[in-house]
Amino acid sequence: MPLYDVAISGGGPSGSYCAYRCAQAGLSTVLIERRVPPWTKVCAGGVLLRAASRLDFPLPSAIIEKEVRGLLVAGEGFRERFRFDRGLAYTVHRPNLDTHLLGMAERAGAELMLGDEVKVIHEGSDVELHLRSSTVRARCAVVAEGAGSGNAHRLLGPPPKDGMAMGLRSICPTIEGPEDEIEVFFIDSPTRGIRRPPMFPLMGWMFPYRGMANLGVGGHGYSKAQLMAGMDHVLRHTSVRVASAPGPPSAHPIPIIPRPKVATRRTMLIGDSAGLVSPLSGEGLSHGLASSILAAEAAIKLASGDKGAILAYEDAVASTIIRDIKAAAIISPVLHWLLGVVDTGAFFRAVGKEEEYIRAWTEMALGEETWQRLLMMTIPRFHRLFFRSLA
Ligand SMILES: Cc1cc2nc3c(=O)[nH]c(=O)nc-3n(C[C@H](O)[C@H](O)[C@H](O)COP(=O)(O)OP(=O)(O)OC[C@H]3O[C@@H](n4cnc5c(N)ncnc54)[C@H](O)[C@@H]3O)c2cc1C
Repeated sequence: MPLYDVAISGGGPSGSYCAYRCAQAGLSTVLIERRVPPWTKVCAGGVLLRAASRLDFPLPSAIIEKEVRGLLVAGEGFRERFRFDRGLAYTVHRPNLDTHLLGMAERAGAELMLGDEVKVIHEGSDVELHLRSSTVRARCAVVAEGAGSGNAHRLLGPPPKDGMAMGLRSICPTIEGPEDEIEVFFIDSPTRGIRRPPMFPLMGWMFPYRGMANLGVGGHGYSKAQLMAGMDHVLRHTSVRVASAPGPPSAHPIPIIPRPKVATRRTMLIGDSAGLVSPLSGEGLSHGLASSILAAEAAIKLASGDKGAILAYEDAVASTIIRDIKAAAIISPVLHWLLGVVDTGAFFRAVGKEEEYIRAWTEMALGEETWQRLLMMTIPRFHRLFFRSLA
């Protein structure tokens, strides 16, 4: 039985990009994915430029649906538009993105085992991944199985309590448009008290595709009926005219709290399996790709004899990605509390006048800024935004 340098379970964006990076560096790499492409992942398909900039190749224009240059924020009694002088995000159909990244991994030299499943991972002096009817041996394993990862659960226990939000989405043909603007809807009235995280009040979206719209909702602690009512809200308030009523939406969990441990002795968790998603927006691709890069670096170091490489992976995730997520988790309840007590329209107009602040948010989308710094910028502005936004 060959001994691979690295075996990756899961061929979503995190797993495929990790496989690509490992294979590019010359590691013998195998990726096991239980489905066969093209598959669908429930997602809004927003790729912020900070996510795209983690890739060391450009996204081909054929898979880019729209380059996003505008944002509409809407809620009870307000609709505010922001335009940007450059594209801040792309939208993509996830089957196209996932198939492309998987192809890049294969072209870089990773061996793909598609349509098979990693049932269990055993760790000894190396790792054994037991598939349906065969076993794969490797120096280390990477678990990139998404939010419901069975192997993350078996190796490190259940995900954090209250750590999953839920998202729904439908992709609908439109009569005209949409243009290049994302629409975000604050649907639930935010609480008037500051709650501890997780805090992900029900929000909805319209992400523009070519001749289609990705409509959806996400939130933490909502019933199916409340999520479905949220979908109706989005349909009633989007500026896009859909060609026909969408069919039943698809649902998927969104992890919003990172796992306290993201590695064992020989296995690293990346992407949604590790809970690396923004608790403010449900955006997971940039942290997923960032963790792929760190895991690939660790696998490369391990293959060259650095026994502390996996421990160093865990430290690197904690001091970069998780620190950033924690800063977002602090901003989130304060922001939502603010929206509950101030005139929300006035709040967004007040934010719009804070040029340096808007620039920093824009740079965040581009990957040139961090949530930590946004948090540091929010604190001295807080009183101004608060008093200018009181009803
Ligand atoms: C409704 C919704 C909207 C979202 N919108 C956005 C957005 O606009 N922008 C954004 O950045 N993020 C968004 N996200 C989050 C984003 O979809 C995830 O963060 C991202 O898909 C994580 O990628 P991943 O590779 O870690 O996991 P996944 O994409 O979930 O991939 C995991 C893969 O592992 C495979 N797998 C699972 N178990 C096994 C096994 N035992 N053996 C082999 N293979 C296995 C699965 O088949 C799957 O292909 C959204 C999420 C939801 C639910």
